Order: sequence, then C-alpha cells, then structure tokens
Amino acid sequence: MDLGIAGKKALVCASSKGLGRGCAEALAAAGCDLVLNARGAEALDATAVAIHSEYQVGVAAVAADITTEEGRAKVLDAAGDIDILVTNAGGPPPGLWSDWDRDDFIKAIDANMLTPVSLIKACLPGMIDRGWGRIVNITSKSVKAPIPALGLSNSARAGLTGYVAGTARQVASHGVTINNLLPGVHDTDRGVMLDKGQATREGRSPEDVRAERERGIPAGRYGTSEEFGAACAFLCSQHAGFIVGQNLLLDGGEVNATL
Ligand code: NAP
Repeated sequence: MDLGIAGKKALVCASSKGLGRGCAEALAAAGCDLVLNARGAEALDATAVAIHSEYQVGVAAVAADITTEEGRAKVLDAAGDIDILVTNAGGPPPGLWSDWDRDDFIKAIDANMLTPVSLIKACLPGMIDRGWGRIVNITSKSVKAPIPALGLSNSARAGLTGYVAGTARQVASHGVTINNLLPGVHDTDRGVMLDKGQATREGRSPEDVRAERERGIPAGRYGTSEEFGAACAFLCSQHAGFIVGQNLLLDGGEVNATL
C-alpha cells in the first residue's frame, strides 16, 4: 500500500533502537526523510547510516536527551519544519508502590508526559499553518491495563493520554491528527531488561520468565519493532486522516478486554 507520505519530514525521538527505530524504518520505507534522536551518539549514528543506505532517504541524527529542555531545543532546532512527530523516550524503572517519592514521580512525569506535551506544543503551530500533520506518541499498554511494577509509567502515561484526548480534538480540523500507540511486550532491549530484572528478583532464568510471559499473550510471542513501526507508519499515512485521538494497543491480545 502506498502510504502517500513520501517526501514528508519525520522527527522520531528515541530512535536508535527498539520501537523508535522500528517507527523510523517504517517511515523511511514509506519515503519520509528523517530526523533521528537518542542520547548515545555511537548507536544513533550507526542507525542513521544503516537507514540511509537501505532506504535512500535523508537522515539527520541529533544526539541529545529528549527529556531535558536543552535536549529538546537542540533536536527541534536541527529538525526545523516537520510534518510527522513520533514522541518516545526510555520508560521509568520498575518497583513497588512504597519505593516512589515525589522526585521519582516528577522525573517520570517529566520524561513520559511533559516531554511529549512540550514537543507536541512546539510542532503543532507549523503543522496547523501548513494544514497537515501527524503526531504519534509511544505510550504503553499500561494505559489500558496497569502493570503493577511500573506504577511510575502507569501514572505518567495516563496523564499524557488525557492531554492527547482533548488536544487531538482541538487540532483535527487543521488536518493534524494525534494518536497514541500502546505497546505490550516487545522483543527490544527494554523488554529483555525487564525479563532479566524479574528473573533476578525471583531467582529464575530470563528464559523461564520469557516463556511464562509468552504463555500469557494470546499470540504466544513477543511483538517485533518491525510490526510496531508498520502500525506507526499507517497512523502517519494519508489514509489515517480520520483517526483522531485514539489509543491503539499492540499487545498480541494480552489485555483481556472487549473494547
Ligand atoms: P529500548 O529498546 O530500550 O530503546 C530505547 C531507545 O530510546 C534507544 O534508542 C535509546 O537510546 C533511546 N532513549 C532512551 N532514553 C532517551 C532519552 N532520554 N532521550 C533520547 N533518547 C532516549 O526501548 P523500547 O523497548 O523501544 O521502548 C520504547 C518505549 O516504549 C519506552 O518508553 C518503554 O517504556 C515503552 N514500552 C516498551 C515496551 C516493550 O516491551 N519494549 C512495552 C511497553 C512500553 P539511548 O539510550 O542512547 O538514549
């Protein structure tokens, strides 16, 4: 399917690896020029070179911490006018309700709620002026079904979801859509790290933990960055202009709910 977005410019945050990279690759395959970002320059540059050589699109790489004001300014300056924004950042650490104090919540809210809010606010005026834009936020299945050990993530992402629900409806008449993608368990560094953490806490092997988690997913496996990226590219396509303020779960059926 031709997604109709060849030549559009996309900023994909936190995209040297994992789900962000999956989104960047799918947008590059659709012909978008990219601005990629991550903190670590080495992996970021390697990803930029690999994507450029595979898809022959323009790829700029900006090493910066997207959760800081300076990092966002650096990325937005380098990006200039963009048509597509994919927000993403690392997720907060796991723990128990009694572990988290005010500073932990502020950090999580800064990274996983206020960072995307601030990027959205910076990019919307240009998109509205040009009469076209696509914004996709990578959140988590925890928005629909809480993950008890990820209370910081549950809280911060719920806040972002509320903001998007209202804002998407305020800008839709300008040809700009905002939607969220909610990953369930995916086969990325973060997914593997969470398996290892649980294995260590419970004195089990990571393979055992993974097999148990896979049994809880109706699809019987972890998701891939490629299929996640394909869903992102569709939401950014010309075909998705009537999809506004939605939360699309990509979890292999793990959240057991009718709607
Ligand atoms: P990942 O494989 O660990 O990749 C994270 C990417 O983000 C890397 O490129 C990393 O590069 C970059 N990054 C992290 N923090 C950053 C920051 N502050 N500024 C700029 N770049 C940053 O993680 P993932 O699995 O793709 O997860 C992406 C998001 O989805 C996370 O918020 C995660 O919590 C959420 N999620 C993931 C899953 C899953 O199963 N994988 C499930 C639910 C939700 P650097 O480290 O070099 O910055």
